[in-house]
Amino acid sequence: MMLGFLLARAGVPVLVLEKHADFLRDFRGDTIHPSTLEIMHELGLLSEFLRRPHQEARTISGQIGDDFVQIADFGHLPTHCRFVALMPQWDFLDFIAEQAKKYPAFQLKMEAEVKELIIQNGRVSGLRATTPEGELTVHVDLMVGADGRHSTVRDKAGLEIVDLGAPMDVLWMRLSRRPSDPAQTFGRFDTGRILVMLNREDYWQCAFVIPKGGVDEIRSRGLELLRDEIARLAPHLHDRTAELRDWSDVKLLTVSVDRLRRWHRPGLLCIGDAAHAMSPVGGVGINLAIQDAVAAANILAPRFKQGIVSEDDLEAVQRRREFPTRATQAVQVFIQNRVIGRVLGSTEKLSAPMPVRLLRLMPFLTRIPARLIGLGIRPEHVRTPAAA
Ligand SMILES: Cc1cc2nc3c(=O)[nH]c(=O)nc-3n(C[C@H](O)[C@H](O)[C@H](O)COP(=O)(O)OP(=O)(O)OC[C@H]3O[C@@H](n4cnc5c(N)ncnc54)[C@H](O)[C@@H]3O)c2cc1C
Repeated sequence: MMLGFLLARAGVPVLVLEKHADFLRDFRGDTIHPSTLEIMHELGLLSEFLRRPHQEARTISGQIGDDFVQIADFGHLPTHCRFVALMPQWDFLDFIAEQAKKYPAFQLKMEAEVKELIIQNGRVSGLRATTPEGELTVHVDLMVGADGRHSTVRDKAGLEIVDLGAPMDVLWMRLSRRPSDPAQTFGRFDTGRILVMLNREDYWQCAFVIPKGGVDEIRSRGLELLRDEIARLAPHLHDRTAELRDWSDVKLLTVSVDRLRRWHRPGLLCIGDAAHAMSPVGGVGINLAIQDAVAAANILAPRFKQGIVSEDDLEAVQRRREFPTRATQAVQVFIQNRVIGRVLGSTEKLSAPMPVRLLRLMPFLTRIPARLIGLGIRPEHVRTPAAA
């Protein structure tokens, strides 16, 4: 959607196909980081965007065993917004779609599911999609697979996936929030368990981290036990865990961390989760996807204006975005294996490890995780013009 908007804004005709009838999906990419908010500023859309209902997380804290520690403080970032905005992904996508529709070069077709690629002489030249009106065939100069971590496009294009693995899955749920509750978004690490709680004003968006593939065991032990564990990790929620009435109130996110070896082939480029599914560590998936879109628009829009886009241009997009992706995934895999895997496997009482204790001793160090999470590596800036 973001790439479609930026290209149409620069005068390049775009058709965006979305298989669902709307963008309503619970617990998806609800964190809009300072890097994305900065892009909104560069597009002149920031104040309009922030008028949409959202919450602002200015710090991230954790409790490891009995130790409280502030992990990230966004207050020193060199950006207009020094906070992570929490906003449902459908609000964000609806906003971008509304902006994009102001440009005549933009078309959005909902309920259009890409099923097949048309490949001629080794080049992707179009696609076939199903729609309520029947099959739709589209011929294209360039197709961009931005269809997420179970991408049909990358699968049909035969692009090779490198799987980096993950030791955990995540159970997402919501529990109501009371004014007397703590205000902070924070993570609680205790023997064998991790609970992350995002303050959404009238409710807590909770992520309960479990060992990879462990959901069946948790289900077989019964919902009551899960409720008890949540109450043990966050005692102020003990009178609300009954809001989890049955397993339909608990959504499973199967964590995968992977990336394509090549993000492109002639006529096709993959970006976002389709090119690299990110770990939920740091909640940076949506922001990396947006950064890919900005980089792709910066590189491709001028080439479209000059004529046809070549595979060298697609390679230039991968070159630009591969390093930030690999470096972010390397940090995530390190944290997954060295911190999360260890906590989930622990049987004894935890205490904060040395690097975390350092953050408490030297609070200015919280600027480092803030920068990594909030801005990421090599942040992109909008270079595409707005066509008349
Ligand atoms: C449960 C969950 C929670 C998450 N929480 C966070 C978070 O808090 N913060 C964060 O930054 N990231 C989070 N992420 C990751 C984040 O959602 C993704 O990294 C981000 O949305 C990637 O954007 P994308 O546009 O590449 O893919 P997606 O957002 O997955 O979008 C792909 C789109 O393509 C559509 N589509 C798929 N197949 C087809 C097809 N064949 N034809 C047409 N359309 C198709 C889908 O319906 C979807 O709308 C979460 C992910 C999950 C699953």
